[in-house]
Amino acid sequence: MTDKELKQIGKKDSRGREIAGVLLPLPLKGPYDYALPKGVEAVRGLIVVASLGSREMLGVVWCPPEGTVGDNRLKEVEELEEAVLLPAGLCDFVDWVASYTLNPPGSILAMALRTASAFDPETPRLAFVKGDTVPPRMTEARARVLEVAGDGLARSVSSFAQEANVTPAVVRGLIASGALVETELPEYRALDIPDPDCVAVTLSDEQRAAADSMIADVREGKFATSLLDGITGSGKTETYFEAVAEALRQDKQVLIMLPEIALTIQFMERFAERFGCRPAEWHSDLSQKERRRVWRSVANGTARVVVGARSSLFLPFSDLGLIIVDEEHEQAYKQEDGAIYHARDMAVVRANIEKCPIILSSATPSLESFVNASTGRYKWLKLSRRHGVAELPEIRLVDLRDSRVEAGTWLSEPLREALRNGFASGEQAMLFLNRRGYAPLTLCGSCGHKLTCPNCTAWLVEHRYRRRLACHHCGFESTLPPECPQCHEVGSFVACGPGVERVAEEAASVFPEARIAIASSDILHGPEETQAAIRAMAKNEVDLLIGTQIIAKGHHFPQLTLVGIIDADLGGSDGDVRARERTFQLLNQVSGRAGRAEKPGLVLMQTRNPKDPVMTALVNVDRDSFYEQERQYRERASAPPFGRLAAIILSGGDGEAVRETGKALARAAPNAKGVKVWGPTPAFYSLLRGQTRERLLVQAERSVDVQAYLRAWLAGVKIPGSVRLTVDVDPVSFF
Ligand SMILES: [Zn+2]
Ligand SMILES: [Zn+2]
Repeated sequence: MTDKELKQIGKKDSRGREIAGVLLPLPLKGPYDYALPKGVEAVRGLIVVASLGSREMLGVVWCPPEGTVGDNRLKEVEELEEAVLLPAGLCDFVDWVASYTLNPPGSILAMALRTASAFDPETPRLAFVKGDTVPPRMTEARARVLEVAGDGLARSVSSFAQEANVTPAVVRGLIASGALVETELPEYRALDIPDPDCVAVTLSDEQRAAADSMIADVREGKFATSLLDGITGSGKTETYFEAVAEALRQDKQVLIMLPEIALTIQFMERFAERFGCRPAEWHSDLSQKERRRVWRSVANGTARVVVGARSSLFLPFSDLGLIIVDEEHEQAYKQEDGAIYHARDMAVVRANIEKCPIILSSATPSLESFVNASTGRYKWLKLSRRHGVAELPEIRLVDLRDSRVEAGTWLSEPLREALRNGFASGEQAMLFLNRRGYAPLTLCGSCGHKLTCPNCTAWLVEHRYRRRLACHHCGFESTLPPECPQCHEVGSFVACGPGVERVAEEAASVFPEARIAIASSDILHGPEETQAAIRAMAKNEVDLLIGTQIIAKGHHFPQLTLVGIIDADLGGSDGDVRARERTFQLLNQVSGRAGRAEKPGLVLMQTRNPKDPVMTALVNVDRDSFYEQERQYRERASAPPFGRLAAIILSGGDGEAVRETGKALARAAPNAKGVKVWGPTPAFYSLLRGQTRERLLVQAERSVDVQAYLRAWLAGVKIPGSVRLTVDVDPVSFF
């Protein structure tokens, strides 16, 4: 960056110091004025140390000063030992997200500064190279070390010891004699640089055409949005890798976003096969040290490709040439805690600010993206054929009203038969049920009392393997009580409905020979266990994988030919506008796991609603007419993307105060053309983690400035200290 590009924003005070607005990573109204040490120029993005009250924290020089504080009362910030700048694009992005989501800008900045240790000065690693001195006494061990050192590379004591097969004492002896001399290495090894031309790639004509369009966008270096819309198994990833390669050739940085960490392992391997090394990773599971390394490498431009979860959007890229949002329809892109934002939508904003193309990739795009593509707002790149010899699986419905299953069992006869046939010919199968644990509900067989969480309006889910009842919302756990708390009957509890553990139990009793594994996004089956199950499946060490939505995504199992969906009707009756879309996306994605190599796949869906439009669309492989129906329905209902929604959630330990505040808010809602306010109503989980929750919903026509409406509304209401107010613009969950 040249000096001219740096935005000078400070004003000089009477003592010749620059004064500027400094944004702190706290939920304050805006930046506060501070003085900069003499000689330091106020440049937007400069990270400094500021004190607020008795606390010291990082802050960022943000904007011209307000000028309301007298010069002599202004506090002075301190410089960091090493100057670090947040790139201008990231500062603009923070402001934009804050304004759109109605969060204080400091709360958004906090996400960009979360890696506080990244700003400490580097501590170089101590290493040694061969010196000019010859050791006075030469031994065989010493000779071996010097031979290793002969290549001139710097090594630590332990590396020398290991490579020369000597004890560290031998190495230290050579250092003492001056035969090895100290040198300094940067704290971290630099990240490997992906090679765009590492392997020769062959693409189908369809893939080539899509790749060429994306490559042209990368070359042009302008903001442009493409929807890469390809059926499962059509090779979307290898197609967009061509755009990544082009960005690398142009010396640009690339951000690839994935909805979940669980997906990264297979992805990293695919990336390494294509580009010769792994990309940088960014997600909440990284160690503090690794976060620091990646943050700094992104900031100084040496991290060329970053694969990350939502929070990677707030990394300090300075030369972004491409953003990819994989599985763009995934709800996991919506951040629901703290500052609520939709990472896919905000990725489009960041691409716009950075003036670079963005690719949204999915087999089942969100209806929003589908509409944007069909109206020409996004480029629509379609991949309609499976790659190689693989064909789309055949999808058959099992009507549970005809194929009855015995009470307490979940596998219908047609499904059992298909499993039997598959196992007989040595093929793999997968059973999908989006319910963790053993049973979603435990009730008393005598009086009907249901076991619920004391902190939430939710049932306790039985986890039989661990002999625990757990609340999936707050983490409350208990053992099964010896007697019913209501009627005091002993041993009267009955497990109702299936979870994956219960289906696994049934499968094991029907197929005692089969090797069965469970994968679920669970506190009990944590990420490692799930990864182990998925790896075992990929290596053909498992015959039957039973799991929740964690198995639906992105995995490639060449030997998997049969997918059974235990309950295709689950989730269809949520009552929110996206329920059907989501069911379709999930079932389509699960189905897509079957028959990805030479062998054809079969999907059996157990349902009680075979006439449901979701089922019909899946069986007839007719996605677009399903989407068209959904589009019309949303248009009639003025639902997104044809209208806008915003939710206000009130919560607090004092239920009465929460409800009163809800009523006061509703009364204060301004009248505006094209805006309706609904509520307050108790939220779906009206008690969550011990907090009472009420919701209000704003429904507005597309042309309405929802943020302006909300600002005007909220400015006029005093929220008591005991009540927490959260704004969710464009809500995707209605709990
Ligand atoms: Zn009872
Ligand atoms: Zn709970």
